[in-house]
Amino acid sequence: MVNRINHVAILVKDLESALSFWRDALGLPVERTEENPGENVNIAFLPVGESEIELLEPIELDSTLGKHLAKRGAGIHHVCVEVDDIDATIERLKAHGVTLINDEPKVREEGTRYAFIHPRSALGVLVELYELPSA
Ligand code: ZN
Repeated sequence: MVNRINHVAILVKDLESALSFWRDALGLPVERTEENPGENVNIAFLPVGESEIELLEPIELDSTLGKHLAKRGAGIHHVCVEVDDIDATIERLKAHGVTLINDEPKVREEGTRYAFIHPRSALGVLVELYELPSA
């Protein structure tokens, strides 16, 4: 079952100028920021109700995200939906002929399991699946 939109990720050239819109002009709170050199990205997390806006700023321009920014410019990068059971969701998607970027879920530090659906199977949208660690 798909529960909610966990986050919408937006690719930005630089966090500070993005925050002048999202935080200062629109008025969203910044819950935290994270520097993630391993994934070549700095992230600002801005809660909106039960969901979040995540602003992604590539660190290295020759990274996957950096190249995406150079090629397509800033804008919505992906939408993340939260599911109860990521394995069952992946099985279901495959049964519908959907291509995933990673067939096996990856695991974040805090235990969240995630996978990406290829945009060519989702009408041009990069979709991320999240299964949160059970509380
Ligand atoms: Zn994401």
